[in-house]
Amino acid sequence: MRSPIYLDHNATTPVDPQVARAMARALKIFGNPSSAHTYGRTALAAVAQARAQVAALIQASPAEVIFTGGATEANNLAIRGAAFAMAARGRHIVTSVVEHPSVAAPCHWLSEHGFTVTAVGVDARGHIPVQAVADALRPDTIMISVIHAHNEIGSVQDIAAISAIARRRGILTHTDAAQSAGKIPLAVEDLGVDLLTLAGHKFGAPKGVGALYVRSGTPLAPVLVGAGQERGLRPGTENVPAIVALGEAARLALIRLPKTAPRLRARRDLLRRRLAEAIPGVAVNGDPDGGLPNTLNISFPGVAGRDLLAASERDVAASTGSACHAHSSQQDALAALGLSPERRRGAVRLSLGRSTTVADIEEAAAALIRAWAELA
Ligand code: PLP
Repeated sequence: MRSPIYLDHNATTPVDPQVARAMARALKIFGNPSSAHTYGRTALAAVAQARAQVAALIQASPAEVIFTGGATEANNLAIRGAAFAMAARGRHIVTSVVEHPSVAAPCHWLSEHGFTVTAVGVDARGHIPVQAVADALRPDTIMISVIHAHNEIGSVQDIAAISAIARRRGILTHTDAAQSAGKIPLAVEDLGVDLLTLAGHKFGAPKGVGALYVRSGTPLAPVLVGAGQERGLRPGTENVPAIVALGEAARLALIRLPKTAPRLRARRDLLRRRLAEAIPGVAVNGDPDGGLPNTLNISFPGVAGRDLLAASERDVAASTGSACHAHSSQQDALAALGLSPERRRGAVRLSLGRSTTVADIEEAAAALIRAWAELA
């Protein structure tokens, strides 16, 4: 029996075989990068190479890359770190109602510790209106933190327009780009951001490693305190093999993007066509034609997405993507789009990866159609 077709790449991706090989080699580099002898220097050189590779992916300079233990940690460092560093200037932060919990929760935490947070809504396609962000700004606003590409609905925000407004007013812009790497271009100068979050396991590296881009000169206080690694912003002995893996994944993502993105889009659109041909009333959620090329958030009529996935689980592994947000300023992303309860109930997130073949799409579509016909 074959394994189910994996259509949950927004949750996590398989480790790329080339990345795994680079990581395996790096396991032998056991020196501490802070040691002055040859073993330490070898480890430091491996970290430096990975830093350059990650910097190249986002067109930053290597000194602007801070390695972290993943996107959650990078988001916490960006948001809490910038808030602490800027508190004397102001205590107001603007974010959106569709942020990942790793952005929403630090914002909420700050709102309980002397800061005020405004969460801006989204339109029916999941876009944060730039004007709404501009309208939310106050004289004491210090930071805007807005997701780049949405993990559930795939909508991509106009970060460049938002950061342009912020910069004119001396406000920092952070974006959580955990879902963007390897799927869409990610140049920090084009985006105009001061802080940008990356997550290794969303683009072929293992879990538990990520990075925060910190534009040179950005005020940032550490969240963890300890020794001086990562310019004191993320102290603790570096996880050299994971960092090497992140570097290799970044190198591959950069080379592959021009071919990967159109291929993902074509296969995603094929999946959408197959489902629409067979099931009257399926409806795409978010931004059907723009957005992340690998993501299809789609509502099946008359069934619960959860039940559909359970009925087809031997053939397809995907998720409903309707994560609950714990804090009052946050909503389920589909509710934030203004979708009816029925449409939200029937939603499934199908997210493709580089290894998803046309045959996988045909089989997955057939399995989902069969499961729908049984349940509806
Ligand atoms: N931000 C976004 C948009 C994500 O999709 C995820 C992962 O689900 C994260 C942050 C958190 O990543 P991690 O769990 O690796 O820290």
